[in-house]
Amino acid sequence: MAHPGLGNVSRFKIIDSTLREGEQFENAFFDTDQKIKIAKALDDFGVDYIELTSPAASSKSRADCEAICKLGLNAKILTHIRCHMDDARIAVETGVDGVNVVIGTSSHLMSHSHGKDISYITKIALEVIEFVKSKHLEIRFSSEDSFRSDINDLFPLYQAVDRIGVNRIGVADTVGCANPRQVYELVRVLRHVVSCDIETHFHNDSGCAIANAFCALEAGATHIDTTVLGIGERNGITPLGGLMARMIVSDRGYVSNKYNLKTLKDIEELVANAVQIKIPFNNYITGFCAFSHKAGIHTKAVLNNPSTYESINPADFGMKRHIAYASRLTGWNAIKSRAETLKLFMTDERYKECTASIKAFADVRRVSVEEIDSFIHAFYDAQKLGAPQDTLVGKSLDTVVVTSLDTVVKG
Ligand SMILES: [Zn+2]
Repeated sequence: MAHPGLGNVSRFKIIDSTLREGEQFENAFFDTDQKIKIAKALDDFGVDYIELTSPAASSKSRADCEAICKLGLNAKILTHIRCHMDDARIAVETGVDGVNVVIGTSSHLMSHSHGKDISYITKIALEVIEFVKSKHLEIRFSSEDSFRSDINDLFPLYQAVDRIGVNRIGVADTVGCANPRQVYELVRVLRHVVSCDIETHFHNDSGCAIANAFCALEAGATHIDTTVLGIGERNGITPLGGLMARMIVSDRGYVSNKYNLKTLKDIEELVANAVQIKIPFNNYITGFCAFSHKAGIHTKAVLNNPSTYESINPADFGMKRHIAYASRLTGWNAIKSRAETLKLFMTDERYKECTASIKAFADVRRVSVEEIDSFIHAFYDAQKLGAPQDTLVGKSLDTVVVTSLDTVVKG
């Protein structure tokens, strides 16, 4: 369902920074081939922008940036540089569509990192922006650590860059300390302070990166930074898949028409392999149990109508739901469904008896899907051969399987 009244929830853009922020992930080392594969996969997915490491970082970074610019992707290519003329001069020569400029504006960074004051920052920002604009490229100016910066510094700075025609200002929760209400309030005020677009960047140190992105959009932000699986400095930023999960619940039409959601799992596997990590069990959309239903009450309802216990349709992402039936929490509807899948048709009474035996056995130890399937088969065969009910109900799985096998062998 769309929320036309809520900011840009239904018209946001994604700046994917897997090849910049993601390169800052502890495990990341992307060779040129991997970078090109990732850039193509992101383009195929439909992200609006791909942000690359500064070409000033190393000669390889510069060569890779130039190579990706030559791919002719639909996504616009950005590179992320320090607010410095030396970096800007290199960036505009690479073939990028735009430059994302950043400088620390918190008192922490002004005194402990670059040592410059706000009037110097304003002066250099204006110089860099004018230069990049003169090359007819897009330009974003972002503060760093925005939520620990003094708004009496920030707002005049943003207004100054807005006045000279910056395309976007950036708000960055560089240390992951902001909460959704703070984000909403800052962006809502900023929306009235500047006329340009507002890009936002949220680190996930305190677990709010997706919620903060959502609240930024509600408050009028236009662009969200993501990385695949959220990889980045420390524990990373808003994950692309997690943002998709959040946004499809808010506006399925916008998200599913704009983005090629069925490629999400492949992109995540591509990046996970490149940085040698496993996709976490609780990952949005693609975690192995993201669409698993286990408790009897849940499985019964989901078998009737999946939306009872799913806010996201797995099919939108090319994923499948899974009914977990090999446990003590299973219900007879799940067992019936599984039996029918195995083409073992019985009366509801028999399914209930079969389920009772499974629950009794699964109370004692962990059981596998294969064991349960064997048991359903054995139960089916035994009841078909006319075994009296009391030889089936309450018997252990092992006994029934053995009894059944004996019958088959002897028969
Ligand atoms: Zn970051």
